[in-house]
Amino acid sequence: MNQISAIEAPSAGDMPTGDMTVLRQRGQREVFCGLTGIVWLHRRIQDAFFLVVGSRTCAHLLQSAAGVMIFAEPRFATAIIDERDLAGLADANEELDRVVTRLIERRPDIKMLFLVGSCPSEVIKLDLSRAALRLNARFAPSLRVLSYSGSGIETTFTEGEDACLAALVPELPDTTDAGLMVVGTLAEIVEDQFTRLFAELGIKNVGFLPARRAAEMPPVGPNTKFLLAQPFLAETAAALIRRGAKRIAAPFPLGVEGTAKWFEAAAKSFGLNAEHCAKTLEMPVARAKAGLAKSRVTLAGRKIMFFPDSQLEIPLARFLSRELGLTLVEVGSPFIHREHLAEELLLLPSGTFLSEGQDVEKQLDRCREAAPDLVVCGMGLANPLEAEGFTTKWSIELVFSPIQGFEQAGDLAELFARPLRRRALLKV
Ligand code: SF4
Repeated sequence: MNQISAIEAPSAGDMPTGDMTVLRQRGQREVFCGLTGIVWLHRRIQDAFFLVVGSRTCAHLLQSAAGVMIFAEPRFATAIIDERDLAGLADANEELDRVVTRLIERRPDIKMLFLVGSCPSEVIKLDLSRAALRLNARFAPSLRVLSYSGSGIETTFTEGEDACLAALVPELPDTTDAGLMVVGTLAEIVEDQFTRLFAELGIKNVGFLPARRAAEMPPVGPNTKFLLAQPFLAETAAALIRRGAKRIAAPFPLGVEGTAKWFEAAAKSFGLNAEHCAKTLEMPVARAKAGLAKSRVTLAGRKIMFFPDSQLEIPLARFLSRELGLTLVEVGSPFIHREHLAEELLLLPSGTFLSEGQDVEKQLDRCREAAPDLVVCGMGLANPLEAEGFTTKWSIELVFSPIQGFEQAGDLAELFARPLRRRALLKV
């Protein structure tokens, strides 16, 4: 059994000791802010609109993270806070109301509006939750207005999705029916596969948070059980528990083993027959295992290091070490949720070196010393590391791509094998 212990800046004795080391760092970090989540959230909730209340920097970040996307009807935008607002010369609330009113008059198809806070809106202390209440009163019932923060002061990268989903939870309809909720943004193709498998297992009443449309958000209540599909949803899980729902403890559905254990945990918690569950999963497991063979040839025996970025690092490291034979040099994560990751930590190889938070220069030194074959990191670090001769993989791609579930396990492995093959070709 793996347990974890801290070797730097331990917190108030909340971590057990054992054979797994956690280096906790609070230095300079290289991660995106939570606004990035809008890029995948706006594709998922198809009648929602994300209005960032921010600066030109925020608008640029969204544009570059989203790539060059041409929409007939865009579903996110930035209301720019300018110098007059910052200097307190203009009433930012009045201006915000004007922008929202113009937007809704032009776009009656929008059913849910998220006001997304940023660093500048925090600096001028613009209260977006009050603005949401005010705007709700004006536009109800045809539009629901919610708010959350995606600012770099409060959130990193994937925490923006957590803040968004946590804001949705109080809005979910009540139910006393027994049911399962899958929590975390998934690609539609993955949701469809999961829906089919849950039906084959015999689990009824399965909802997904977030749903594809504002009016289809799943109900919640004391007989709801939920499965996290993403490891970065601490606030959302806490909000669901406050509504009476219970979390099913499981590893995350990445790779063949993680996905099988995720489904098994759901089946067990609904009291379903273990033999029937094993039989249902037999074929997809066999297909998914066969799908890993090609990448395994490239990946087995290689050394990999994760810089902290998305909080997906620990489940990915578990998949890469156990199913593809990679050696884990260091697994960095911006935050390690001990409870949600408990099942994952048990599956990591004994003695795995974990780091939480970041002190980027020190981590770069460790990387140079360990000389991994593959480095998983944010975009800002990838170019300099490539220039030093390292092979890198952008962690952001792992958040944008459909990687969960049996059918995607082979594609997920390929995302790591490809950069190594490309580097080998360059050397030839
Ligand atoms: S929210 Fe803050 S960190 Fe994010 S883009 Fe805007 S200014 Fe930059």
